[in-house]
Amino acid sequence: MKNLIIAIDGTAASGKSTTAKILAKKLGILPIDTGAMYRAVTLKALRLGIPIENREAIEELARHTEITQKLVEGTVRTFLDGVDVTEDIRSPEVDKAVSLVSSYAGVRKRLVELQRKMAEQGNVVLEGRDIGTVVLPDAPLKIYMDASLEERARRRLGDLKKKGANPTLEEVMEELRRRDEFDSKREIAPLKRADDAIYIDTTRLTVEEQVSIILKEVEKRFGGDDP
Ligand code: C5P
Repeated sequence: MKNLIIAIDGTAASGKSTTAKILAKKLGILPIDTGAMYRAVTLKALRLGIPIENREAIEELARHTEITQKLVEGTVRTFLDGVDVTEDIRSPEVDKAVSLVSSYAGVRKRLVELQRKMAEQGNVVLEGRDIGTVVLPDAPLKIYMDASLEERARRRLGDLKKKGANPTLEEVMEELRRRDEFDSKREIAPLKRADDAIYIDTTRLTVEEQVSIILKEVEKRFGGDDP
């Protein structure tokens, strides 16, 4: 298969990252987690003590920030100005602040530029909120993933518990609901299904099932040879 480009968008905790990682491994292509990039800018602002409401300061910060992603022993690691921040960007503080930071035009301009550069040579699967609509509107395969709020919260709670955190299901539901609402209602590049995206409701699907649906589409659209 030549020049695989897959765009995956969807709601928070709908299974995008897990699916993208497995697909990337099976297809021998690079997974790019664009949410991690918005999280990295947010982390930098929090660490520098810049109030996240200060749009201009954050936009300026984004312009002077380098974010890269690399596969290290099969997992995607995110580097902020050369330093690995893969774990640090998953804190509750970043969860709370990331949607506001992501709504700033200057932040999006910088990160979309980096994302397009990463996707330039092809053989990539990008996942986020605006990949099929804004970042790669010509992507030959677009997926939109969603699941019920309760199911998404249950999965997120499982991840959080593994890391030692212990919020209630209701708290996680509220956090996801708040973030999706903000992301869907923002003016620039809101979370929305591209007209030509395949919709997958993962509420009752296993990870294997959702991956297999996408693999069938890959086969249909890109043919059967090696990348
Ligand atoms: O995917 P994840 O939940 O890590 O994304 C964190 C946040 O980053 C989202 O809630 C959204 O505000 C923002 N984001 C975005 N555009 C993307 C990916 C993520 O605005 N392409």
